[in-house]
Amino acid sequence: MKRNLKTLLKFCLLSAITVVFTVLIFRIFESSNHPQNLQGFHKKRSNNVVVYNEKIDWHDYEAIKKDLSRTGVGEHGKPAYLTSDDHDIYDQLFKVNGFNAALSDKIAVDRSVPDIRHKACHNKKYLKDLPTVSVIVPFHNEHWTTLLRTATSVINRSPPHLLKEIILVDDCSTKEFSRKPLDDYLKANMTKVKALHLPERSGLIRARLAGARIATGDVLIFLDSHTECNVNWLPPLLEPIAQDYKVCVCPFIDVIQYETFEYRAQDEGARGAFDWEFYYKRLPLLPEDLKHPAEPFKSPVMAGGLFAISSRFFWELGGYDEGLDIWGGEQYELSFKIWQCGGQMYDAPCSRVGHIYRKYAPFPNPGKGDFVGRNYKRVAEVWMDEYAQYLYMRRPHYRAIDPGDLTKQKELRQRLQCKPFKWFIETIAFDLPLKYPPIEPGDFGVGEIRNLAAPDLCVDSGFRERDQVVGVARCSRSSGKRAEQNFTLTWHKDIRVKGKTLCFDVSDPNDKADVTLYPCHGQKGNQYWKYDVEKQWFLHGGNPRCLDCDPGRNALYVTTCDDSSKTQKWRFESVNLTMLADWDNIGIQ
Ligand code: UDP
Ligand code: MN
Repeated sequence: MKRNLKTLLKFCLLSAITVVFTVLIFRIFESSNHPQNLQGFHKKRSNNVVVYNEKIDWHDYEAIKKDLSRTGVGEHGKPAYLTSDDHDIYDQLFKVNGFNAALSDKIAVDRSVPDIRHKACHNKKYLKDLPTVSVIVPFHNEHWTTLLRTATSVINRSPPHLLKEIILVDDCSTKEFSRKPLDDYLKANMTKVKALHLPERSGLIRARLAGARIATGDVLIFLDSHTECNVNWLPPLLEPIAQDYKVCVCPFIDVIQYETFEYRAQDEGARGAFDWEFYYKRLPLLPEDLKHPAEPFKSPVMAGGLFAISSRFFWELGGYDEGLDIWGGEQYELSFKIWQCGGQMYDAPCSRVGHIYRKYAPFPNPGKGDFVGRNYKRVAEVWMDEYAQYLYMRRPHYRAIDPGDLTKQKELRQRLQCKPFKWFIETIAFDLPLKYPPIEPGDFGVGEIRNLAAPDLCVDSGFRERDQVVGVARCSRSSGKRAEQNFTLTWHKDIRVKGKTLCFDVSDPNDKADVTLYPCHGQKGNQYWKYDVEKQWFLHGGNPRCLDCDPGRNALYVTTCDDSSKTQKWRFESVNLTMLADWDNIGIQ
């Protein structure tokens, strides 16, 4: 009996050890297969055996097939047109929307859009386990059918189990359908969509915050109220967040043309940036980004309106600064915070969403005074450290603006131990200062450009021969300098007619090519010029040809460089030798 008891005890102990051991092994296996940050999203499923890295094809082929078979006005994102009978309604609705809302009413709210994703997106698989989503759409006086089309495209092109809700945040719209008719319509037709009516006009930033506060999904996706989601838009936005909750992901923003509702690409991607007046700008993709056209790439700042972020990270960052008024600067605030406070931002090429870029803003802003300037100052003061001065140099009146109380924002930065702005510029937006130097370099050279073979002839932009073609003419220096003979070789490495934004441009690749005037683009290419002080050459382009002239015909052109040619030598009136010697370190390379 005693012995039996002993055996039983031994057996129990052994079993217990085995159980504990098995659980332990399982746990270890599970956590090694399971990136740290996923845990938040998968707690609910911890009883099941989950293979966390399993990837699946998320395409809804049924829906894709149905879309392909559709016919009608504006289907497949084809340009559409009104008939002449529609003129009155066209005018009336264009005025209050800044786009062709009358045409929108003739296009189905569930219209098809062309699948213009890179072909590598078609067979990309994404994690089987993805977080749930709340889509937040602020709107002020949005047109009925564009608003419904936004919500409809989200519903039709999102996996139902991932889409928890769509929150339409009505920023105190005054159009009659915005309140009860909208609520009734949603109740009857779109149960996943709810409208949140704000009691007073709050502006885009506070409207987004109001929506985010009541959202219940793991991930918040913000959209404008006149957008259309494209095929399989959701998984590419969610996967990077599932892998790391501190990643914010933006879709590619396509263009829905405001007049015809044509759906087309804006471009094939670029990294978001800004100049020192805080205009949104774009930087080229990096060579490694170009190698993987379907993979998300890092972007320094978001365009602003369309992005996905985990609710957890959004609120860890304090959402948007509530002191920001109406709109303006919020995309910089959030982008800087994300990067400086330990997060990352990506653009996902396989997620595309169309957006109507209005012709003009149809409604006035309720903000008082220069509220955008005040917003910018809040962002600059809290996040930009010594770089704030570059903004103030260009907009000196910002120095006098009272940004209001910044204590909460500065505390947040302190608490989250966010990195300095210098780190952000040097590590994430490292090519920004080359394209948009905080302090603009001077010019490489200025003044007349005089030919050595025919010393009384100067380059002349007075276009006498044909429109826009640059030639040579008698130097007019003695009779008072004419603007047509006064040029600058700027730090953009282009030659500008002094005081104008017209640049010397050569588009003809032939051996003898005209020089024409073209609006400056600052992107080198056809407008790239270099001055060789030793040889007195003006070299054009990466595959250099030399500026040359035919004095008999007053003709100017570029042609193969020739050391023995005297007509290829030019005296540039005043050059900055120090800057020329530092050529490779100035401007974009
Ligand atoms: N919006 C808002 N309140 C405002 C201004 C704008 O809710 O005071 C909404 C607007 O309806 C849209 C989004 O914010 O959904 C962005 O505004 P808009 O489309 O006018 O900006 P844009 O895209 O032209 O820069
Ligand atoms: Mn918009």
